[in-house]
Amino acid sequence: MCHPVSSEFQPSTPSTTGSVPPDLPRPTGTGAPQETAGGPAAPAVRPGALGWPPAAAAEPVTAVASPDPEARPEADAATAPAAEAGTSAEPEPAAPRSADVPTELLETPVGAGVQSQLEIAPQDGPTNRPMPSFPVPPPLSAHGPARVIAMCNQKGGVGKTTTTINLGAALAEYGRRVLLVDFDPQGALSVGLGINPHELDATVYQVLMERGTDVRSVIRDTAVAGLDLLPANIDLSAAEVQLVGEVARESVLARALRPALDDYDVVLIDCQPSLGLLTVNALTAAHGVLIPLECEFFALRGVALLVETIEKVRERLNPGLEVDGILATMYDGRTLHSREVVSRVVDAFGDDVFHTVIGRTVKFPDATVAAEPITSYASNHPGAEAYRQLARELVARGDAA
Ligand code: ADP
Ligand code: MG
Repeated sequence: MCHPVSSEFQPSTPSTTGSVPPDLPRPTGTGAPQETAGGPAAPAVRPGALGWPPAAAAEPVTAVASPDPEARPEADAATAPAAEAGTSAEPEPAAPRSADVPTELLETPVGAGVQSQLEIAPQDGPTNRPMPSFPVPPPLSAHGPARVIAMCNQKGGVGKTTTTINLGAALAEYGRRVLLVDFDPQGALSVGLGINPHELDATVYQVLMERGTDVRSVIRDTAVAGLDLLPANIDLSAAEVQLVGEVARESVLARALRPALDDYDVVLIDCQPSLGLLTVNALTAAHGVLIPLECEFFALRGVALLVETIEKVRERLNPGLEVDGILATMYDGRTLHSREVVSRVVDAFGDDVFHTVIGRTVKFPDATVAAEPITSYASNHPGAEAYRQLARELVARGDAA
């Protein structure tokens, strides 16, 4: 008997995007209008979204110029230009989301000797839009089923793990039952919550790979009331390889989490910095994706590829997947560079960008060392308040209970 899954998981030719698992199924329908069989089609850039350089002076951007370090007027000495994680391949044009991703917009250096166009009115928030107020969410009388949100960005060091811990802790403060899933073999989320990854008998690895391991038996409490953790350690790196031989390998995490969903209001999955099979599993298990984006020019360059991957997963594996929002992290409002990066991201992604931005502060690494969320480590610090506001914004947007 012909099983419907078999055609869905045919091996396919290697992806031209490099970072997407080469065996991600190819689209079978006609729902990818911009995917052409021939040479690369020009990405459809939303002209109004270009915004930079200003429309009057706009010249067509013909090549991705290497950003000139001299042209960064207020480069933050503390911000080393991070290496790009596997994004050297040009993203292939596709239909990445409901609106087209203005690739050029994301890849043109900001602040290249042009005076800032940014005039932030006093009532405007850091994203240069009027700041709504986000009310404290009412208590829930019943819990579950959870909405699952993947923290995703193939670039490392952008604030995925920090956002997972602190958004989770903030939601828990508002009475939500929250499960954090460590889905990075580095185990930084587990360590950040005070767990020694070498002492773990069971982790998310067993839940994925050992049939009969109930996820609920591996989930543990944390020191924060209402916040639970499904931990990980380096064992998870083996799963990336072993999953390749599994049937429906992209949906293994979704299936594994299912028994726990009724116990929680929100599940946050901390992805590893790659677009490999583990991340595809997270995107397949998720209802929404939250993209933390460091306020630094180089951080923008991988976003088009990430959005394209999200779109592929939506087309082929998880039709309900939504981009919940893009979160600007490590924002320093004193630097023109931070403000320009945020402005660029808002031009490109509009209302998908959270009004809340997370400021750069050493309190976050300090809290990590203390193995606590900032909401308890430095409860009154603006960084703690920022994550509380993000939690309120998420609820106000309907992306969490
Ligand atoms: P990722 O999970 O994307 O690799 P992390 O959340 O681990 O990123 O953050 C990378 C490093 O940056 C960590 O040392 C973390 O403490 C620090 N960090 C995260 N967010 C901020 C912030 N808003 N300000 C300053 N440092 C931060
Ligand atoms: Mg991380």
